[in-house]
Amino acid sequence: MTPAVVAVLNLDAARHNLSKVRSCASVAKVMAVIKANGYGHGLLRMAEALQQADAFAVARVEEGVLLRKAGFSHRIAVLDGFTCIEELDELLHYQLDAVVHSFCQLDILEAQTRSGTCAIWLKLDTGMNRLGFKAREFGAVYQRLSQCALVKQPINLMTHFANADDVNDDITLKQIHLFNETVAGSSGERSLANSAGILAWTHSLSDWVRPGIMLYGISPFPDSTGQQLGLRPVMTLKSRVIAVKQIEAGDSVGYGGGWVCEKPTTLGVVAIGYGDGYPRHAKVGTPVLVNGQRIPLIGRVSMDMLTVDLGAGADAKPGDSVTLWGEDLPVEEIALWADTIPYALVCGVTQRVQLVEKLLENSC
Ligand SMILES: *Cc1c(COP(=O)(O)O)cnc(C)c1O
Repeated sequence: MTPAVVAVLNLDAARHNLSKVRSCASVAKVMAVIKANGYGHGLLRMAEALQQADAFAVARVEEGVLLRKAGFSHRIAVLDGFTCIEELDELLHYQLDAVVHSFCQLDILEAQTRSGTCAIWLKLDTGMNRLGFKAREFGAVYQRLSQCALVKQPINLMTHFANADDVNDDITLKQIHLFNETVAGSSGERSLANSAGILAWTHSLSDWVRPGIMLYGISPFPDSTGQQLGLRPVMTLKSRVIAVKQIEAGDSVGYGGGWVCEKPTTLGVVAIGYGDGYPRHAKVGTPVLVNGQRIPLIGRVSMDMLTVDLGAGADAKPGDSVTLWGEDLPVEEIALWADTIPYALVCGVTQRVQLVEKLLENSC
């Protein structure tokens, strides 16, 4: 029996998206960002699909350890770095690259007496005001790291953009200039660009790029879809109709009774809800594909179900296929209807949704 809700993963699309990164940033090495369980697509599955990448990046030490234990021998950068000696030990033991962004981390590194070396990425805060050292601190930090026995030389250098998805905001150019000016003359490879940097800011490409969202076929920009950028969606979220009924003018539908029927129509109940990660705030009118036809969501999304207006005379029946986002229905569009971003939708798919691989049409 197939489960009611599945996230079908097109791994061929992921490989295509990686080749798109290569064509945009042909001289740069690619660090594929697969944090947060591969943006909800499955950590190991995405690592497998993207093994042609030059390195991986994850957010947490545990995610890097999972990749090592599964046998991946790529370079793996841990973007959050470490906060205690135990985590640094894990980084050393599993040979994971650490992002170093704070003086606390410097103290931990200098106090360590064990053998071995750890590759690091010195992170500069060029305007995001999240992780990283200020430009004025760079010289002293670089100096201390250069003298630290535990630190593999040369030190790698990175920064992160605060608003690269807004192509009209020149803060990104300012960040690029501040980074380049600060690290000028220091040895070590450089990395600035996320997906939006790769697609919109050619000056940010440098030695390494760090694509995340575009690898999953999703646009980092609010006004375009991945498809319009030559990307292909990896995840298609699917469910099925479980009930079909006629409703009359004046009938209200769902919790709160906020949606009232204006004229007789056919209502479909679909087995998916916020318990699966479908956004509860999706507005009335959000498109849903039933048997390939776009129809509007009506009423409130509940935990396990949502309702759609199939239209008068519809012939849909229980068991019919429903697509919530993915192929033929861009997740970017659903995110707009739900006042969120596509990143949050794909990351938010919950554990009860089974991830299944799409069988390729040409495979036998
Ligand atoms: C998540 C992340 C990325 C990838 O960002 P996308 O917008 O998904 O391409 C790159 N660098 C850092 C430091 C990140 O945290």
